[in-house]
Amino acid sequence: MNIRDEAVLREFNLYPLWVGKDLPPPLVRDTQGTSVAPSVLTQVGADPLTIELKTAPSRDTEKQKTEPVLFRKNSEDADWPALKQHVQDCTACKLRPGCTQTVFGVGDQKAEWLFVGEGPGADEDEQGEPFVGQAGKLLDNMLAAIKLKRGQNVYIANVVKCRPPNNRTPEADEIAQCLPYLQRQIALIKPKLIVALGKTAATALLGRDATLGSLRGTIHEYQGIPLIITYHPAYLLRSPAEKAKAWQDLCFAVATYSA
Ligand code: SF4
Repeated sequence: MNIRDEAVLREFNLYPLWVGKDLPPPLVRDTQGTSVAPSVLTQVGADPLTIELKTAPSRDTEKQKTEPVLFRKNSEDADWPALKQHVQDCTACKLRPGCTQTVFGVGDQKAEWLFVGEGPGADEDEQGEPFVGQAGKLLDNMLAAIKLKRGQNVYIANVVKCRPPNNRTPEADEIAQCLPYLQRQIALIKPKLIVALGKTAATALLGRDATLGSLRGTIHEYQGIPLIITYHPAYLLRSPAEKAKAWQDLCFAVATYSA
């Protein structure tokens, strides 16, 4: 294991107990012992790790409770440059006057992996890129843990493109105004898998409210695209004990991607 792998596993509070394993990985089993998906871990000196999933992975077949939000006029068919311009020029909600700049998103526009966060923080507002600063470093380490890298087959975006004051949670009207931009980004990217980082992203993409804990461990869908839900890196910085659960979610995401 190289120094980088060690650092990644330390980030997840998993080192020295766990080591990364080349993909494709061994099986994950649900609490009934049924093989449900591959994992990316093996325990040192042990058989393939059995991860006790909180709930057996299952397709979220429940119909989305909200109607799809219509794209804002002139942006529904926008290509990348036009969409970026729409966002840059947008003043549709009360977040715009309080932010330095809009934060559109970053990465591979043909990515198979899409990570969706909540909204820009202070560092993102200053630099114009999502997930920079400490939460961004943690996200980069989360990506590295599953052999991904920002910008390489990965796109990162937020639900709202302008920084909420004092990093508060975006309000429903702000999300409703901004969501069409994310929807158009998803339509352009056509990712193979979406990972929602935190409850705001999960709620926005699912169109219904639920606790994050109840949403983990299940393959949801957004417009037919598998959607996995895990914690926001900023939350993990405040609650490092939850990092192991996030790691479990990432393993589950890899399993879903590989299936
Ligand atoms: Fe427009 Fe979204 Fe910024 Fe609100 S948060 S002003 S909807 S870009």
